[in-house]
Amino acid sequence: MREEILRISGVNPSKCMKCGKCTATCPAFEKMEYHPHQFVDMVKNNQISPLLESESLYCCMTCLACEERCPRGVKPQKLIEAVQVIKLRASGANRLKPQDVAERLDPSLPQQALMAAFRKYSR
Ligand code: SF4
Ligand code: SF4
Repeated sequence: MREEILRISGVNPSKCMKCGKCTATCPAFEKMEYHPHQFVDMVKNNQISPLLESESLYCCMTCLACEERCPRGVKPQKLIEAVQVIKLRASGANRLKPQDVAERLDPSLPQQALMAAFRKYSR
């Protein structure tokens, strides 16, 4: 599962030097059971199961401040998103096929939302 997270996110957690700047800048860190720097470390060490069960997954506001602040270009938010994606895909029930999208399409939907849905719900 770790390899899949790395593949989806494109992130190399081994670059992390545990400086904690991502957590220090995160506006949601107080609500997170696992803070951004811990999240990175846990993926690095293949401790994925606790992350899949943690509410921390849903505390991230995708502000990207952690990415901006990281001196090593680690992108913690991408790892959080990748774990979210894996959890969603494992649930199965919400998965969409591309051919199912057209009939559900809301013309007012921003294109980014559509792309995000594809990434989250398709394998
Ligand atoms: S993207 Fe998420 S984890 Fe990163 S600083 Fe923002 S809220 Fe925190
Ligand atoms: S800011 Fe970057 S290098 Fe520092 S702890 Fe966070 S992910 Fe690791």
